[in-house]
Amino acid sequence: MSYLRCSEAALLLFTFVQLTAALKCVCHLCVNHTCETEAEGACWNSVMLINGKEEAVKSCVSPSELKGQVFCYSSRNVSKRNCCFTDFCNNETLHLSPGVILGICAVQNLWCNLIKAHKQDPEESLDDQTLVSTDKCLKELIYDMNTSGSGSGLPLLVQRTIARTIVLQESIGKGRFGEVWRGKWSGEDVAVKIFSSRDERSWFREAEIYQTIMLRHENILGFIAADNKDNGSWTQLWLVSEYHEHGSLFDYLNRYTVSVEGMIVLALSIASGIAHLHMEIIGTQGKPAIAHRDIKSKNILVKKNGTAVIADLGLAVKHDSNTNTIDIPINHRVGTKRYMAPEILDDSINMSSFESFKRADIYSMGLVFWELARRCSIQGIYEDFQLPYYEQVQSDPSVDDMRKVVCEQKLRPSIPNQWQSCEALRVMGKIMRECWYANPAARLTALRVKKTVSQVTVVKDVKE
Ligand code: ADP
Ligand code: MG
Repeated sequence: MSYLRCSEAALLLFTFVQLTAALKCVCHLCVNHTCETEAEGACWNSVMLINGKEEAVKSCVSPSELKGQVFCYSSRNVSKRNCCFTDFCNNETLHLSPGVILGICAVQNLWCNLIKAHKQDPEESLDDQTLVSTDKCLKELIYDMNTSGSGSGLPLLVQRTIARTIVLQESIGKGRFGEVWRGKWSGEDVAVKIFSSRDERSWFREAEIYQTIMLRHENILGFIAADNKDNGSWTQLWLVSEYHEHGSLFDYLNRYTVSVEGMIVLALSIASGIAHLHMEIIGTQGKPAIAHRDIKSKNILVKKNGTAVIADLGLAVKHDSNTNTIDIPINHRVGTKRYMAPEILDDSINMSSFESFKRADIYSMGLVFWELARRCSIQGIYEDFQLPYYEQVQSDPSVDDMRKVVCEQKLRPSIPNQWQSCEALRVMGKIMRECWYANPAARLTALRVKKTVSQVTVVKDVKE
């Protein structure tokens, strides 16, 4: 039988308390400049360059932030940050070494007021030649960070600083989780998706997916920052992204018709966004294949230039091709019922193959193409905006309603006769049919759709 001597027991107890107890930390953005961590959290100390000045940020780090992300590591040369584990251990003020500071982007512009420092070796000294031109912007900074190997997206310190200096302007949308707002950051519009604290998992998941290495693409919503801020009573969970004033494709098609060219541009960018998500890129800088699982016109946004981006990645799943596994436990039937593929509705989907999830996305994309093509105006002729299966089901249909229509009666949205008179609409009609085959394996791939759409020649002399 063994027993602990008093001093051993005290040491054990001390270690245990150290590891698990809540900590008090210096916190700039908190009441009384103090925050308290949850058990197994840490104090956070950081410094970055904003508008040419060193800005220190000190706060608490939650156990989940400590676990999955890169909170406690200085990004090679943009910022310094560290985590520590005793009360008020983040009291000291950190400084950046001069070699870190390369250049500062123009102050007025959202995309231009962050430091352009990351291309520089930290050991090199600052001289005129190494100054990066001031027209380099946040957009490029994010892009470079993603491709230069220093991670996917901005360092969390930068993300948090951006998020905490946004001023919310107006509510612009509501979906499954919380609310989406237009906000101002440094004079520019950004979109802020605010999750309620009970949806913390969804917030974390969406932020995690957006920060998948190599995910950034012109047809995927540009992620800027994620932040979780404790305001004393509850945790505010923010996801900041580029703002698109046209809103969703659903809103856009309700409001406007599109020309043949406009339709092709939208269709091509939707297929390109989905093809990029679906594609696995092999290598250390590779990206896993991702399936969206909630493709619909409300989850696609329209940019000012008439192209589209895929948004709302909250339900997406990643594939690990080495182990042939999916990164989260799958609860099937998670998307929007109206857009669910037949094999999801009747539960015949083969969940052991990742291809199945991609094929279900393609079915939903076919329905979006149908919504889009109806709004294509040719010589002033077009259809009104409708959701797929508007003739067969009421609003908010149940899985059973949809299963009867899609699996049993095998109905699909109808293709208007006049589409035959326009080459582009004929091609769109053919693509749709090949996207919504009952047999998932027979459906087109996103890459194939992209190629076919890109080959459509738009006859310019057709009057819209
Ligand atoms: P949810 O997960 O709650 O469905 P979404 O990300 O789909 O949230 O956003 C809900 C709605 O908010 C969208 O359908 C769109 O109308 C609007 N919205 C979302 N993000 C943006 C953005 N970046 N720019 C403009 N509008 C947006
Ligand atoms: Mg949505």
